[in-house]
Amino acid sequence: MTLKPDLGLKRWIWPGVFLVIGLVAPLVLPGDKWVRVAALALVYVALASGLNILVGLTGLLDLGYIAFFIVGAYTTAIFTVSSFGPMLAENPSAIVWVLPISIVAAIVLAGIAGSIIGYPTLRARGDYLAIMTLAFGEIVRIVSINWTEFTGGAVGIRNIPPLSLSSGVVPPTLTYYIIFAIVVILLVALASLIASPVGRAWVAIREDELVASSMGIRTRRYKLLAYVVGAATAGVIGVFFAHMNQFVNPDSFTLEDNFIVLSLVILGGAGTLWGPVTGAALWIFFQAVARDIPLIQAHPEFRTGFLALIVIVLMILRPGGIVSKRLELTRARGAALPPAGALQPFADGVSKQPGETVLRVTDVKQVFGGLTALEAVTFELRHGEVLGLMGPNGAGKSTLLNAISGVTRATSGTIELDGERTERLESSAVSVRGIARTFQTVRLFWDMTVLENLLVGGHSRLAGFVPKFLSPVPFVRRNERFTVEEAEAVLAFVDAWECRDRRASSLDAYQQRRIEIARALMTRPRVLLLDEPAAGLNESETRDLARLISRIRGHGIDVILIEHDMELLMSVSDRIIVLDHGVIIADGTPAEIRTDPAVLEAYLGSDAT
Ligand code: ADP
Ligand code: MG
Repeated sequence: MTLKPDLGLKRWIWPGVFLVIGLVAPLVLPGDKWVRVAALALVYVALASGLNILVGLTGLLDLGYIAFFIVGAYTTAIFTVSSFGPMLAENPSAIVWVLPISIVAAIVLAGIAGSIIGYPTLRARGDYLAIMTLAFGEIVRIVSINWTEFTGGAVGIRNIPPLSLSSGVVPPTLTYYIIFAIVVILLVALASLIASPVGRAWVAIREDELVASSMGIRTRRYKLLAYVVGAATAGVIGVFFAHMNQFVNPDSFTLEDNFIVLSLVILGGAGTLWGPVTGAALWIFFQAVARDIPLIQAHPEFRTGFLALIVIVLMILRPGGIVSKRLELTRARGAALPPAGALQPFADGVSKQPGETVLRVTDVKQVFGGLTALEAVTFELRHGEVLGLMGPNGAGKSTLLNAISGVTRATSGTIELDGERTERLESSAVSVRGIARTFQTVRLFWDMTVLENLLVGGHSRLAGFVPKFLSPVPFVRRNERFTVEEAEAVLAFVDAWECRDRRASSLDAYQQRRIEIARALMTRPRVLLLDEPAAGLNESETRDLARLISRIRGHGIDVILIEHDMELLMSVSDRIIVLDHGVIIADGTPAEIRTDPAVLEAYLGSDAT
């Protein structure tokens, strides 16, 4: 299945529909009451979109999300009533500069709250994360009730100035359009962020955190960033909610709101851009209509029960949510033709003489509980060679690659890349220093296109000052265009350029292997670690792969190749080391290995097949 990127007009359908409905709504809705409902719907649209960053994109649950909204609402309430109240009473137009201060303060405070909740949750997942976020949400709510001198306790804060330049009654239509403008700005900023290295890093973390880290993404930093961005979004809309209602008190927000917003994200389509928007808008209007139904009037709690029911039914019928349009994680377009020449110096050519040591592994030991998977392994990888690594199943080959790539930390021993110690580094840092890898079972980001997978490989060259990615202006994406060109050249190099717009999950086995290698090449490695790349390939594909590996070496990238296919291993390796029970039992040229008695013994003894 090819996913053509939306180009030209088609891309504007959803934003266009949203803009038209949003602009026309107050004009066609019957009366002020419904305009207020529409404004409330926009507030929920923003909340759901912000929570979607956490839940939908990054895959982090947050059951206390409303806390950030509370922080924003109280920030502006305290600001505009306690601090600037008297001045605003005299001169209502001063709201023009008080409000921006409020917004900045809300972003900062909600952002801080987001990093406070985000920090400890970085290590927790699943149930723990859910409980921790739930508890945090309750703490914020309880503080808002009990910190009386600041928050007015149960009474709350009244007389928050409306969004208007003059005193007197404010038409709800004005409030509506102001909130609409803010929501449009928020959505544009979030959409820009999603189609940037930041959004791709989030989705990569959701899809496969270990691989994301191996591609140079500092996963903890990006998870924290997701909390901060989600929190800041809720904080900003909290400010506008407070000015819209003109009062806040602890009853304005309940525990239930957390679950409602979460349900709306799931209902609309978690991990899509327009799902949360659709879910939130539909729900608020439905709720307003339901208010007039006698049964609901008698039992208001039926409303939430009904929401739960729709979510359950929908999860059975349409698990992806109402909107299933997949997110586009880049806006850069590829070329119409395969790149001419097709070759690019993707290795950051550090000048080394052939034969010089690139990677030195010394006495590496890896213990898992009672099992010693690697015992004092020592070897060198020299520039200009493909080093074969063979050994029976369970010998410790993959464990060795994991230790070298920083996926697991060796129990003891040292690993040096060009003289620099790497054994204590996170896998993201190892990747940035020039060691790339593939996995024994292919691990692509299955929900992304091939091109997006490769862009994740180029992450460390694209990442930068995060706020700049909030802007939809194309020039901040110039880097991205270069990297897309590079990705296309790498795809042509592995002979898979035609696949670039296809979803990774739709590829055949050999394409998947090549794309995984291409993604690794996008990190511009000095050393490439391949873990059984020929597994599952037929004979001609295996021969083709052998040629590809030789061409990679031709580009100055040194390769460690684990392989069960002896013919492949013998034909492409310059040197082979043999591992058995975590110990190197032989090291030599393919010809030497072929006749080594210890190797024959190990293979015939334990893995004669
Ligand atoms: P192979 O040479 O087939 O790639 P591995 O490196 O995958 O072998 O495994 C070597 C040994 O270490 C096996 O006995 C395996 O069960 C064990 N092992 C690998 N990873 C872990 C882990 N994370 N925890 C415990 N045992 C492990
Ligand atoms: Mg293995």
